[in-house]
Order: sequence, then structure tokens, then C-alpha cells
Amino acid sequence: MTVRLASCTCGQLRAEVRADPLDVAVCHCYACQRRTGSVFSAQAAFPRESVTIEGAGTEFVRVGDEGARFRFTFCPACGSTVFYVEEGAEQHIAIPVGAFADSNFPAPTVSVYEKRKHSWVSLPDDVERWPKDPV
Ligand SMILES: [Zn+2]
Ligand SMILES: [Zn+2]
Repeated sequence: MTVRLASCTCGQLRAEVRADPLDVAVCHCYACQRRTGSVFSAQAAFPRESVTIEGAGTEFVRVGDEGARFRFTFCPACGSTVFYVEEGAEQHIAIPVGAFADSNFPAPTVSVYEKRKHSWVSLPDDVERWPKDPV
């Protein structure tokens, strides 16, 4: 089993993970673009019990298009989001892939909200795309 360490930019807020990802997804929605400052987000989901959090975090709740409430925890000193959970699905925890600072991290398997994808972004051909027919 791989042990991985995710952290914010300043290192104050950290998550130690003792499991392989359940899935790795990228999301092109504008909320993810604003949250990350990048043109898409990339995050890995893990079983909650495999993750140990250290440090202080501040929470921000964002309500998704379909009413789901996502609870993001970010470092109050440097602002990086280090993990988030969906209310009602607390058995899983999502961690931004970039927080691991590991260019060998597993590639995404799912691509979400492609109707907001920047035209120059290309992903592996075998990624599962949602929705299937972007509107
Ligand atoms: Zn920080
Ligand atoms: Zn998104």
C-alpha cells in the first residue's frame, strides 16, 4: 500500500493517505476553475478512514447545481484547498491531486462538466466523460 502526503502550499495543513485512490476525476466547471485558479480541477477520492488530517483548516460550503453541499477545507494561512467532502457522503474524502506534488500520481479516469472545457485541454482517450453529450 502506498502512503501519500498531501499539503497546502505553506505546509501547515496536511493529509496523510493510506489507501490507493477510489477514483481520480477532473472537473471543468466554472466553480472548480475559480476554486483552483486553474482551467480545470483534478481530485482523487479516498475512503475517509484512510486519511489523517493535521493542521488548522477553514471551511467553505459550496452548493452544487443539483443541490449537493460540498464542504471544502482550506489553509487559513495560504488558501490552498487540501480536502473536501460531500454532505451525506462523508465516507469518502476528495483531495486535490496537485496537493500531493507528485507527477507520478495516477491519471484521471473520469472527466466531468466537459461543456466548460477549454478548447486546448486534451485528456487521455480512455477517460470516462460526463455528460456523454455536452450541452
Ligand atoms: Zn497553508
Ligand atoms: Zn467542478
